[in-house]
Formats: sequence, C-alpha cells, structure tokens
Amino acid sequence: MAKFWKPGTEKPRLVEDEDGGVVFFYSSSSSSSSGFGYSNNIESQRRRLPVYKLKDAILFLVENHATTVVVGETGSGKTTQIPQYLNEAGWADGGHVIACTQPRRLAVQSVALRVAEEMGVRLGEEVGYVIRFEDVTTLGVTRIKFLTDGVLLREMMDDPLLSKYSVIMIDEAHERSISTDIVLGLLKKIQRRRPELRLVISSATIEAKSIASFFRGSKKHRGTGDKLEPNTEPAIISVEGRGFNVEINYVQEPVSDYLRAAVSTVIMIHKQKTVGDILVFLTGQDDIEAAVQLLNEEAQSFDKSTGELLVLRLYSGLPRTEQDFVLSPTPRGKRKAIISTNIAETSLTLEGIVYVVDSGFSKQRFYDPMSDIENLVVAPISRASARQRAGRAGRVRPGKCYRLYTEEYYVNKMSAEGIPEMQRSTLVSCVIQLKALGIDNILGFDWLASPSPEAMIRALEVLYSLNVLDDDAKLTSPTGFQVAEIPLDPMLSKAILASNELGCSEEMLTIAAVLSVQSIWISVRGAQKQLDEAKLRFAAAEGDHVTFLNVYKGFLQSGKSSKWCQKHFVNYHAMKKVLEAREQLNRTAQRLGMMLKSCDRDIQAVRKAITAGFFANACHLEAYSHEGKYKTVRTSQDVYIHPSSVLFRVNPKWVVYHSLVSTDRRYMRNVVKIDPSWLVEVAPHFFQFLETSKLSNSTSDFAV
Ligand code: ADP
Ligand code: MG
Repeated sequence: MAKFWKPGTEKPRLVEDEDGGVVFFYSSSSSSSSGFGYSNNIESQRRRLPVYKLKDAILFLVENHATTVVVGETGSGKTTQIPQYLNEAGWADGGHVIACTQPRRLAVQSVALRVAEEMGVRLGEEVGYVIRFEDVTTLGVTRIKFLTDGVLLREMMDDPLLSKYSVIMIDEAHERSISTDIVLGLLKKIQRRRPELRLVISSATIEAKSIASFFRGSKKHRGTGDKLEPNTEPAIISVEGRGFNVEINYVQEPVSDYLRAAVSTVIMIHKQKTVGDILVFLTGQDDIEAAVQLLNEEAQSFDKSTGELLVLRLYSGLPRTEQDFVLSPTPRGKRKAIISTNIAETSLTLEGIVYVVDSGFSKQRFYDPMSDIENLVVAPISRASARQRAGRAGRVRPGKCYRLYTEEYYVNKMSAEGIPEMQRSTLVSCVIQLKALGIDNILGFDWLASPSPEAMIRALEVLYSLNVLDDDAKLTSPTGFQVAEIPLDPMLSKAILASNELGCSEEMLTIAAVLSVQSIWISVRGAQKQLDEAKLRFAAAEGDHVTFLNVYKGFLQSGKSSKWCQKHFVNYHAMKKVLEAREQLNRTAQRLGMMLKSCDRDIQAVRKAITAGFFANACHLEAYSHEGKYKTVRTSQDVYIHPSSVLFRVNPKWVVYHSLVSTDRRYMRNVVKIDPSWLVEVAPHFFQFLETSKLSNSTSDFAV
C-alpha cells in the first residue's frame, strides 16, 4: 500500500504556488457555501458564491472593456453566474444572445441544465445549449446559450461576425483546447470589425496573463466607455475563492501501479470514517472501469461498521442517468468515491469532495507529423493540473489530496504547464475550417501558440490529396466547400460526398453516424466472450463498417428496442445518439443537394466510397507475415488489425482503416477490406506519386 508523507505543517495557511505565481487555495474563516445534501433556496445559494461580490465590478468592466479576463478557481461561480448577470444587465435584450463556450460537451449540457434550473425556466427556452448533432435552443427565445467552442467555430461559417451575440464568454480558456485557441484568434479579428462585441474569457490559472496580452490591441486607445467604443485594453479581474486549506500528501516511493495505489488509497481513506466524498483522477474509461471493479470487490469484505461506499465512474461518454447520479448529492450516511478522467479537473462542479487522489496522469493527444500518427497516450500531467486537481478537495471544508507520485517528482520532473493542444494534434480539421472562413495565410494567422510547420505541411498535404485544396492552397469548389460544411473529419466527409456518386449515401451516412459515437457496443468487464459472440452475429466479411450497417438494420427492425440492444450487447444510449447524428447529417447532406440513395446489397459501392475518403490509410498485409503484420502504404509503418475488429485474424490482403491506436503495437481500428485497384481509381495523383517513390517495392501488389 502506498505510504504518504505531508510536507510542512498542518495548520491552515496559504498554499503558495512554487512558481511564485497565483495562490490557488487557502483557508478561510467564512462558512462554506454549501453543506452536505442540505438544499438551500437557490437565490441565497447564488448570493453566497464568491463571484457574487464582484457582480457589479464584472458588469462595469464588460461594459467598458472590449475584453475582460476573469480568473478564479473552480466552483467560484464563473460559468453559472456571469451569463446570468449579463442577462440581468440587459445584454440579451433586443434579440441578442449571450454565448458561453466550454471545451467539453458534457460540461455544456450540465451547466445549461443548472442555469435553467437556477432561472426557473425550461431548458431550451431562455437557456439552451448546442453541441455537435444536438441543438436545444429556440430561435428568438433563447437568451443564454451554452455551446462547445467547436460549435461556435462552425457557426462562423454561416455568420462570420457572429452578429447575433452581444457577449461571448470563452470559458475554461486555460485548457487551451485546439478549438479554444482558434476561436480566440478569430474573435480577436472579429473584435476589430465589431467594436460593440464584448468578450469575457475565463481561466483558472496563470494563463490569464498571456491571454490578456494576446488581446491587447496594437493601437491602444481608451475609448469613450461608450457601448460602441469600449477600451481595447483588456481588463483582468480575479475572483477570490472561498476554498479551504488542502493538505498535500505525497507517496514516499514512486508507485509502480497507479491504479492499485489509487484503489488502496481510497480504501484507506474510507476506513478512517471521516465524512466527505473522494474524487480519484485516473486516465480513461479502461482504467476507471478496472478501478471500479477492484473497489467493488474490496467493498464486499467491509464489515458492517465501515459504512457504505458508493463507487461511481465519470467520463465523457457516460450515459446520462449515471452522470446525473454522480452530480447529485450523496445520500446520507454514505460516501461517494468518484473515479474520473480529468473531466472533473475544472469543467464540472462536484459537491461534497473532501479527498482527492491524483494518479499524476491523464490521457493526452499527441501527434507526430513525421509518421502522421495521432495518438491518445497516458502521459504525466503538469504542475498546473496537479494544483487544479488538489483544489477540488477544498470546496466544502479543509480537504486532503493524495498524490501518487513523490514530492521530488512534482518539484523537479513535472512540467509547469501543459502543452497547448494546438501543438500536439493533427491540424487537418483546423486548416479546413480556417480556409472555409476565408483565412488563406494560415501560417501568418495570429496564433496564441503557433502550430508546428511540419504538422501544418502534413495537413495541407492531406487536404490536397483529398482534392479539398487546390494548387494555390485554396478550397476547391464544390468539393472543398462541401467537405468543410460537413461537421466531420474531412476524410469521412469526403467519403460521404463520394457515396453520393456511388449511389450509397444512405449507407455512408449511417456509417459516419456510428463512427461519431465512442462505441456502439456495451463493454462489460469479464464478459468479453459474450460480446465477441454477439458481434459475430452481425459480422460482415467485408469489415467493421459493413458490420455497423448490419447492427443498424437490426436495431431499426427491432423497432429501436432497448431490449433488443441489451440482448445483443449493443449500447442503446449510443444507438440513440447514432440516430440523432444521422438525422443531422441527413439535413446537412440535403442542404448540399445530395440525393439520398441506398445501394441495397451492393456493398462494394460502400467500400469504394470509404476508400475514396480514407485512401491515405491504405495498408497491405506483409507477404510472409504469420502474425498479421501490415505496412501502411504512405509511410511504410508496421500496423496490425485491432482485436476488436471483425477482421482480426481474418487479415485480408488490402485494407483501409479509420483510425490508429498505439498500445504495445500500432493497431488499426475499424477496418474494411478493399481492392487495391480502387486506390488508383479514387486518388490517381496520390498513388502515382507513391508508386514512383516509396511504394516501388509493393507496386506488384497492385496487379492482384
Ligand atoms: P466555476 O465556473 O467558477 O467553476 P460554477 O459556476 O460552475 O463555478 O459553479 C458555481 C457553484 O454553483 C458551485 O460551487 C456549486 O455550488 C453550484 N453548482 C454548479 N453546478 C451545479 C450542479 N450541477 N449542481 C449543484 N450545484 C451546482
Ligand atoms: Mg466553470
């Protein structure tokens, strides 16, 4: 079991940031804003939030400054209160809308629901939200609108100046998601054309200063304080938290298995019998499920006096009902242990947390432009993240944070801040969106953090090969503009456009909808065999995409029955999302003038359409490979079919894949069998180039 050590004294004190920066949590004599499960009336609860005291100051700054940066710790009321203050002050009058963006969809929904509750209105009326494939707003009625920054970016395609919004609040800007960074760059441009637009940018850390200086206009002028001519100098306001002291405990020796260490730490806390919920930060669905199972097993051996431990999971793909349960108050006499991804780091307010267990890791996206592979990998978090995580423990009373790494590691090895997502992702979608907004000089764009030139060149290459960009790196017409219009990865959008010509658009829309949800299968630990058998009933020899069509057909034939789903290990909740996504894609397709058509049993058309989008992901089986080793056509890397694929162990000679994951090996996920002659047919320029260069040794395979 992990042993902890607490540096410093235990008496309540300021916890200084080692980098000499902002103070994050400290003790306070004032009473807590909420108790355990006692429901107060909403109005008095709102007044007790730290942000309330600054209401007038915030409104004053927003009125007089084009940009206001609000810094404050999680739970101080930034997200739920500021949009309401703005609404009360009249910023949504005259048909205007107040927008508030979040980097995560789950946060969008949960925050919109909370604000609607506080205002006593029905969700979708005065307060609404929009996430990809889901619009819960009413035109002319919605005054406060929560949305992802990705959705805001899309809205700019129809309305480049975002003219319906009077104030746009970019929340959680410190997370520096790729969409947040792009949105901030574009908003800076929009501000010049719309001086009456106000920006509120909320951030939880020292990022605030760099964001404020980014918005500092080149030409400083004080303005008249007039609504149309505000001061262009950004204002920064800091919301003092009302957090309590958080005692930090480190492990004495590095732990070899953070999952087991997390589990034993939870048990240790629980056996101490003090009050308060536990929040555990792990990395992803897999290790969360494993920890939940281990904890539930341990809980069986508790004696009566130990008290009940409710073990809950929290990650972004979680079904709604489970999510609500996590966010609702803890039943009296019980203790919650919430096992979460870093979604609980800042986006969500969890009441009642007194203990935090921090694994020191999170799942992060990393992109390597040389191999052109983007991976989600488990990587160490930054000190800024570690402090955020610890801060979640001091919300209701003094708390404790157990870090599953040594203090030496924290001080000397952890990086101070994370790398912005912009610098560790593929830029394909980013480039196409900027191009669609008429921004041609992408390298010269005013970036908050410049992307790497290698990644940029890769993205341009991919888009050029898809015929989305022309020789002058401008969007092609109509293909480029159409691809940009479809809210999917450009390869998938291209496959949809190709399906129109091949007469299988009905099928392709279904496949695209399925690929846009995390998984349509129910994953039950320990029931892998049953799941595999269930999959076999739908399995198509052509590959995973065709298998999805079989599942979808079965689901429709069952009358969209949840019982049917359960019987076949299909995730009912995911299938409902598939229906919604398909409905939306259907509308987009019609807007683009596509004629929806089914190819019935001509599955070859579907495979060709997929190839037309994903030809760059073509792979061929190594001639003498007994273990199913493939080579990617483009970069000659070793890849294997993922065990979850219906083509696992089948190993057709040529395939294209939808995505790659790296664990011990590089695995292709969602694979479809193709005929190599199609490659030259759908992308002649691309494969000609490859044939004459890298591919010379495998060109013979083309003659299959
Ligand atoms: P911030 O954006 O500063 O992190 P929020 O506005 O999200 O803070 O939350 C402010 C307070 O509102 C929280 O401390 C909590 O008391 C309350 N709150 C927010 N969301 C919920 C919710 N879903 N259920 C109950 N209380 C909530
Ligand atoms: Mg917030």
